[in-house]
Amino acid sequence: MKRTLLHDDVVFATPAADSTAYAKYGATVVAAGGAHASDYVNKLKRCGLHVAGSISCLSAHSHDLHANADLAAAVARDIAGEPIAAIQPAQGAIAAAPRYFGCVNHPAFRAYVRRKVCDAIAGGAEGLHIDDHLGSAASLSHGGCFCEYCMSGFAGYLLKQNDPTLAATAGVASFDGFDYRAFVNAHVSSPEQYLNTAASFPLHNEFVDFQLSSAADNVVALGKLAEDVAGRPLSLSANATLPALDHAVVLPRLTYCASEIDHNAPDAGLGLQTAISAYRMAEAIGIPVAATATPRDWAFVNSRRADSLVTLWIALAYACGQRFMAPNRMPCAAADAAAHWYCGPASTFSPLYAFVRKHGFLLNDFAAVGPLARPDGIPLTLETSAKRDALFSALAIPPAAPLTAGSGAWVFPRAKGDGAIAIHVVNHAYNVNSQRVERLSNVEVRLPNRIFNRIFTDATAYSYGAEPAKLTVQTEGDSSVFVLPELNLWSIVTFEYWA
Ligand SMILES: [Zn+2]
Repeated sequence: MKRTLLHDDVVFATPAADSTAYAKYGATVVAAGGAHASDYVNKLKRCGLHVAGSISCLSAHSHDLHANADLAAAVARDIAGEPIAAIQPAQGAIAAAPRYFGCVNHPAFRAYVRRKVCDAIAGGAEGLHIDDHLGSAASLSHGGCFCEYCMSGFAGYLLKQNDPTLAATAGVASFDGFDYRAFVNAHVSSPEQYLNTAASFPLHNEFVDFQLSSAADNVVALGKLAEDVAGRPLSLSANATLPALDHAVVLPRLTYCASEIDHNAPDAGLGLQTAISAYRMAEAIGIPVAATATPRDWAFVNSRRADSLVTLWIALAYACGQRFMAPNRMPCAAADAAAHWYCGPASTFSPLYAFVRKHGFLLNDFAAVGPLARPDGIPLTLETSAKRDALFSALAIPPAAPLTAGSGAWVFPRAKGDGAIAIHVVNHAYNVNSQRVERLSNVEVRLPNRIFNRIFTDATAYSYGAEPAKLTVQTEGDSSVFVLPELNLWSIVTFEYWA
């Protein structure tokens, strides 16, 4: 059976350097990497972990590029036919060559990635994880991809639309043999000019839709290949950078996401709206997320030793119905291209994950209610710009913001199908000077009665770092009100009965 993510899963992004870390954190999933070795996979399976192998669709490794001329040509190209660099060599790295986007529509690059899939699951992994899932579609913002395979693919895509207005827009009788690169080149003189004006070109939206759909189809095809080779169902996950709409196209086709989400670390607790929006988008689409922060965020945390800020990120993710991956060994963005890692202390983080594991009964199968509830109008698939616009409108109007309690706490009401309720109260009063989440006292939580349409009297607070405590709930006007005498980081309040 295909394993998806549970709300109380504890996920490692990559294998731990020290395997005792899995037990310390109560790990249940290793999202990516290392699964090509059966000894390693079997060892983790015996510990009850779900293990996925991983590949990247960004580019071929440099030694493969040098050894294979076909692969070296299978790269994303701009309107001048020049390769598009995905990663520029770091300053001072004179000997390094730029790495180009491999084109996922080019047969040679596709064959290369398919071989990598076979390697990734050779050790008996139970899932396939795909990094850089957009592949050459990520080159859209760099002026790509106009290679011959993308051009013939786009002509076929337009023919399949069977929409006469599209041909009229392009001024052609038919899309048989249509060459979008020649069409664009007739209007611009350089890749730079194209980049500045691309959005105004006829068929631009269709070109974006074609590239994003091709990227998602590639991910699905790789997942199918992995299952065919393994001979059993496997989970399929990707590093989808949410809440970016172009990354959302693949979501409905995945089992789950293991994603880098921007936590705007320098803005501390004030910079978390991106993460809240990302979690809500994923829940609205119905795809579980195991999140981590970006290498830029980890560089900030590492340089300041801002461990306490990370505890806030973890609590926020679970309060939003998602997961935050254990900060065991996280890559940091570094200007000098040297390897830097943030290795969070287990003594700080393992108790927080133990709290998660202990309170699965307040996490699993709950869904957001109130202002962050799933809105109407969420499309089932997202392959067209019209559907992505509909998703954006459904999520953004009105803009999603959690309920607040005082000036330092967010409130996330969640409910389960059987009527159970869990109110998450997260302390986001992170003090940049002390580098601590400051404890709050007498936090008054006011829940509009329209959320549950019930009257509550008693509650229990399950708080991180404290014993469970009974609370009284009072009705004041249109609200149910309770007070948390102390809020360390995160409390989950459940109402015991109602009339
Ligand atoms: Zn291409």
